[in-house]
This record gives sequence, structure tokens and C-alpha cells, in this order.
Amino acid sequence: MKKVYNFSAGPAVLPDSVLNQAAEAVVDYSGHGMSIMEMSHRSAPIVEMVAETRQLVCDALNVPDNYKILFLQGGASLQFSMIPMNILKDGEIADYTDTGAWSAKAIKEAQRYGNVNVVCSSKETIYNYIPKEFDQSDTQQYLHITSNNTIYGTQWTDFPKASGYLVADMSSDIFSRPVDINQFGVIYAGAQKNMGPAGVTLVIIREDLIGRAERHLPAMLDFAIHAEKDSMYNTPPVFAIYVVNRTLQWLKELGGVDTMHELNTLKAKLLYDEIERNPMFKSPVAEDDRSLMNVPFVFANGGDEQHFLNFCTERGLVTLKGHRSVGGFRASIYNAMSEEGIKALISAMQDYSQ
Ligand SMILES: *Cc1c(COP(=O)(O)O)cnc(C)c1O
Repeated sequence: MKKVYNFSAGPAVLPDSVLNQAAEAVVDYSGHGMSIMEMSHRSAPIVEMVAETRQLVCDALNVPDNYKILFLQGGASLQFSMIPMNILKDGEIADYTDTGAWSAKAIKEAQRYGNVNVVCSSKETIYNYIPKEFDQSDTQQYLHITSNNTIYGTQWTDFPKASGYLVADMSSDIFSRPVDINQFGVIYAGAQKNMGPAGVTLVIIREDLIGRAERHLPAMLDFAIHAEKDSMYNTPPVFAIYVVNRTLQWLKELGGVDTMHELNTLKAKLLYDEIERNPMFKSPVAEDDRSLMNVPFVFANGGDEQHFLNFCTERGLVTLKGHRSVGGFRASIYNAMSEEGIKALISAMQDYSQ
């Protein structure tokens, strides 16, 4: 169906079958005679669909009973504020790891609500590695990590052990691998990288953290209200949630996050092997910390980047331009990027270097 392989970092590629189901639902949702976008979020079919989506999240990641699964708006960026606002009491300490531009934004927002301790940073080397050795505060409430750094192509392969608990921005690698939810107080992710369209943000939060800070919060920024109302305090982004539902169904049929992790490992290896093998390209990222989701690469000896990008575009390989802070190229190879897509990119790299 698709005419190109889209390597965009986000909004990003979705499975064809998901897009087909989404297209159908836009016209007539499940034989109800109207578009999913015309249906009340209080109607039985939609309430059911949202509950089913919650269950799919729960099944995919083995979410324990003492966690709430919320579908919110405002993107991962609103969670940068909402989490410290809801959790940190005045003067309490939260430790933050600075592993990229998104981490830095999370730090900046948290500083408005608590005592933020930046425990490590790889900023000096343009975030090309994940710091491993760092001290945490004794009285830490939580340790914040960005599990995958979308711009720089680094990923926490093993999560650090927090002296409190972990809070993680998983926007660009959620559902790409199994995780033990018990280490985390909160996991959050904007949908548009690995699970659906922009407009819905997934939050998985341990129940005892909801309402912890006892601040006077606007209703829309209060986890307690969203949890109590099952994410239906106001009109939720029903269509976006439906696309997440279909993506998670697709994931389930493929074998879940364990199978997905195997596929992702295989796909990433194909591409990294070519970057290592091909004298024309190199990876700017420390070998141990290379992301399975976002693969930046640069010319080993300089060259006309736009010329290579045009060469790729002619072959239907699009959105490969690297982030301006890293330069070069970046192939985002999320769950929905097929092995064929990776192989097409590798062929282009080989042909171009000839
Ligand atoms: C894209 C991205 C964000 C920003 O997400 P929004 O939903 O646009 O706010 C935050 N964190 C990471 C890791 C991202 O990749």
C-alpha cells in the first residue's frame, strides 16, 4: 500500500494493516453507520474500545494491578511538568539524568516544582553515550531517565537502579522491548513514535503516587481526576486511542514485546553492521549504547549530504535527514519499520558508495 519507506523520527511509520483499519473507522466505525470521530466518548462502543485499549497496554507490558493506565493529551512534553507537579512535595529532591534534548526539557520543567539534582550528563559530547557511573541523592523521591534518546540514537539497555524509583520518558521505545514495570513509578510516552498518531499520551502510574504532592492543581493537570474518571474527565482523543488499540492488537498478533524485541534487535544489527562495514559511513554513537529505534550515521570522510538524501528519496527512502544538532543522517526504525525497509536502505548505502 505505502509508496515509500518512512524513516521519520516522529510522527513515524505505522503498520499498513493499522492504517487500513483506521481509514475504515473514519468512515464507518464497526458497522455503527457513522465515523468514529462522530461518536460520543460516553457511548458503549467507545467506552468499551478505550477499556480494551487499556487492557492491551496492560497485557503487552504485564502492568501490575497497583498501576493506573491513563490516556491523556498534551504530549510527552506536558508530562515533563505534570509528573513533578503531581508527585514532588515542596523541597523534595528528584534526580534527573541528562542524556539528550528531551531530558534537558524534562529537567527544566521539573525545576519549577522541586529540588532537581542533575546526576549525570553526556551533553559535552553531544549526548553520544549513556553515563553509567553517577551518584544519586540519598533522599531522592525518583530518578528520571529518557529510556531512548530519539535525537542522538542512544538507549538505556539496562536501566539504572534508583534509590527511590524510576520515572521514564519512553516516548520513542515503548512496546519495543519487555520492561519490568515494578522498577518504575511512572512511565509516559507520546503516541506518535511507536504506537499511534499524535494527540494521545500514555501514562502508566503507580497508584500510591497519584495525588501525592497535594498541590492545588487545575483539574486537567491532576492525575487523580483522570484516574478516577478512567481518562474520560473530558473528551478524550478517541480516534488516536483507536489507532493505538489497533497497533497494540497488531503487536499482540505478532507475538508481543518479546518477539518485537527480537525483530528490532535483528533489524538494528543489519543496519549497524552496514554502517561499520561501509567505509563511507560511520556511527557517532558509543557502541554499547546504540539505540534499536533511532540510528544516526554520518559520512566518515565528509561529503555532500543532500546528494545522498536525494539519492535515497529517488528510491522511496524518505525522511533520513539527521537532527540539526547531530548532522548527517538518521534512520528511525520503529516497530512498524519492516526488515525490507532496512534492507532497501542498506542497498542504497551500498550502491551509493560504489
Ligand atoms: C518526541 C519526544 C518527546 C516529545 O513528545 P511530544 O509528544 O511532542 O511532547 C519527548 N520525549 C522523547 C523521548 C521524544 O522522542
